[in-house]
Amino acid sequence: MTIYNFAAGPAVLPKPVLEQVQKELLDYDHSGMSILEISHRSQLFTDLYADTKARLKQLMNLGDDYDVLFLQGGATLQFTMVPLNIATKHHRAAYIDSGHWSVRAIEEAGKVPGVQADIVATSKASGYTEIPQFPDVLKDTYDYLHITTNNTIEGTAYQQLPQTTTPLVADMSSNFLGQQYDFTKFDLIYAGAQKNLAPAGLTIVVLKKQLLTDPNHPKNLPAMLDYTALANKDSALNTPPVFQIYMANLVLQWLETQGGVAGIAQLNQKKAALLYNFLDSSKLFNNPVKPAQRSLMNVPFLTPDKATDAKVIQAATAAGFLNLKGHRSVGGLRASIYNAMPFTGVEKLVNFLMDFEAQHQ
Ligand SMILES: *Cc1c(COP(=O)(O)O)cnc(C)c1O
Repeated sequence: MTIYNFAAGPAVLPKPVLEQVQKELLDYDHSGMSILEISHRSQLFTDLYADTKARLKQLMNLGDDYDVLFLQGGATLQFTMVPLNIATKHHRAAYIDSGHWSVRAIEEAGKVPGVQADIVATSKASGYTEIPQFPDVLKDTYDYLHITTNNTIEGTAYQQLPQTTTPLVADMSSNFLGQQYDFTKFDLIYAGAQKNLAPAGLTIVVLKKQLLTDPNHPKNLPAMLDYTALANKDSALNTPPVFQIYMANLVLQWLETQGGVAGIAQLNQKKAALLYNFLDSSKLFNNPVKPAQRSLMNVPFLTPDKATDAKVIQAATAAGFLNLKGHRSVGGLRASIYNAMPFTGVEKLVNFLMDFEAQHQ
């Protein structure tokens, strides 16, 4: 039986990448050593690091004015590091609240001494089934405006970015390199790798170099929390996650074969449309999200009652469609269909759901 993994994260990785990892696990690049054993100070790794950074910037169409950091601590640590490093002139940061992960980011920013984190728009009243209307003009002066481009739990995503003159910061964890944006519109983007790029244990931070030399950059931050200190040491202030960076490199190479971000985003549109079209035509299943703001990556859906939800999940699991249980805060089901989920996986899931519906009316 073919297994399809619809988990929200850690999530499915491209099969050809996993096969390559298996093939070269005992001997990386003719070194006689496993990638799991090599030193982060070796030429093997420094070459790999430079190559990974170059590929990522190329895929994002970013020039020399951007730097990339490969860190640990997850997207969650960035909830703290972002305000600590860049809410340093006005000491105020604006947040758009679009769901669970935005709320977590706001909470953590508010804990940073001397920083005020303001919610400037929220879609809480709708149960986060849409992206908030964002204010054209922020009435106060802020160091940055923070958005969550894809709301992993609620299944919404920004299709248009806010028009703002305030520096834009994004938690892009769950649609990083899965949806096309003009990445030059952002001053800083962060993403936990385990949704769309690599195994857990790696966090990507893409930021304008100008932020690293800003006169307001604090001088006395703990080094491991300091973007400038980390950038100066090519993210290797301590031992970096070598294996995760290696896997990110392979996934980026795979992405190049898929036509880059534009190519994969087109396929993701097709995958998502197939599933949403089915859900919209179904009498049993329902997706509550405003159609224009639906996520390409995470598709939550419900039946009219919890018992039926549980029955679908049980039958799906038995048929090889795994990890379809919705997040505990919203219930129901959720299919995460990241870059590495093949079109056939979504097609087979839709057929399964269709059959289930036919047998249960
Ligand atoms: C998963 C997720 C996080 C948390 O990521 P960690 O890397 O586990 O800290 C934060 N934001 C979004 C949008 C996510 O999907």
